[in-house]
Amino acid sequence: MKMADNIQRSMPNVQRQSAEQVHGAFEKFVVPSYARFDLVLERGEGSYVWDVDGRRYLDLAAGIAVCSLGHAHPEITRILCEQSAKLIHVSNLYYNELQGCLARRIVGLIAPGRVFFCNSGAEANEGLFKLARKFGHEQGRYEIITAVDSFHGRTLAGIAATGQEKVKKGFEPAVAGFKHVPFNDLEALRRAITTQTAAILVEPVQGESGITVATPEYLIGLRKLCDENKLLLLFDEVQAGHFRSGRFQSWQRILEDQQVDLVPDAVAMAKSLGGGFPIGAFWVREQFATVLSPGSHASTFGGTPLGCAVALRILDVIERENLAANARRMGEFFITELKALSKRYPKVLREIRGLGLMIGIEFEPKVAVLTDSKLSPAIQIVNRLHAAGVLTVPAATSVIRLLPPLNLSRNEAEDGLRGIGPVVEALNRES
Ligand code: PLP
Repeated sequence: MKMADNIQRSMPNVQRQSAEQVHGAFEKFVVPSYARFDLVLERGEGSYVWDVDGRRYLDLAAGIAVCSLGHAHPEITRILCEQSAKLIHVSNLYYNELQGCLARRIVGLIAPGRVFFCNSGAEANEGLFKLARKFGHEQGRYEIITAVDSFHGRTLAGIAATGQEKVKKGFEPAVAGFKHVPFNDLEALRRAITTQTAAILVEPVQGESGITVATPEYLIGLRKLCDENKLLLLFDEVQAGHFRSGRFQSWQRILEDQQVDLVPDAVAMAKSLGGGFPIGAFWVREQFATVLSPGSHASTFGGTPLGCAVALRILDVIERENLAANARRMGEFFITELKALSKRYPKVLREIRGLGLMIGIEFEPKVAVLTDSKLSPAIQIVNRLHAAGVLTVPAATSVIRLLPPLNLSRNEAEDGLRGIGPVVEALNRES
């Protein structure tokens, strides 16, 4: 009997509900802070998910870059069951073996340093903000410079750090000490540094605003600027990290052909680190590893035996099956095919860009058939792709993102293209 069958039998006794009933429960009982698509998803297997009506979708969203091994991966199901039968949680008042193992593994993949565990990307970034404040405290330095169009999470400091006005609106006054400058622009950054600046924070690949990759010169220049001005260089790899780019972290991929060994001072991680099980972390370089001293930072659920066991198993599978190479291969396949599509339909597709399995498809914002709706072009296109049986993620107003599982097969990628092609062709025909 499959592990999944055993688990099915022990599910809580919830009566089967129609999509309308589920929508009704959300309307009545769930805080409406999300603009949701209509789909009610019920189960998944590999790169596919099924809705409550039994309709199958190819999942090229993977929970917004979360489900790195797809859905219901047997090894993840097994480790969840085995570890939860042994020890799910202990407080950080005590030691647990698996937290130490995962920290050692992450350090081995980045550079000498240490790791703090938490539960989400926003929380990992909060750790970076506190690290920067503590680092600059004695000299009265507290400012963190981030990029225009960045995204760093939805906590109060996260929205202050984020370089997009729409996430800040209505939550003023903003947490003090964040400044935004254009991305990939070293001169703007140089001009923004003051005697109060403590750190620079960037996403090496901007995700939420539509997949923009940092240039190698920018990253190298950032390190130089930080060294010259004694600032911390912080990377937010929450979305781009954990082998999605083809290397553990995306800055490592961006710089792999350069003759430099760039090491940032701290890195925020979450999303696919746990493949769907919530775990976040930040790595901090050895020389700053004790800036956050005992009593200065904590998280009740950070680094539980269960979360760490899952994350370790995910790293095992990714390494054993060489999924970093698969992410490169499948990413290149998508980009080549989508660029060919954009040549055929230049009125509809503006640009294809990305790194590994983090791909942005930018549509022309003025595709006529999409202009007379209150919904953004990106949302309308994602809806059309749902009708074609493919899940993708909107970004900005006219970009959709492909962030599929790292073990996506060539057949599945082709399946995805068979869904996307006709949607683009229809937009061209209707416009
Ligand atoms: N940082 C980046 C780059 C992200 O893409 C996200 C989420 O999309 C976050 C931070 C926030 O992560 P979380 O939603 O886990 O708090």
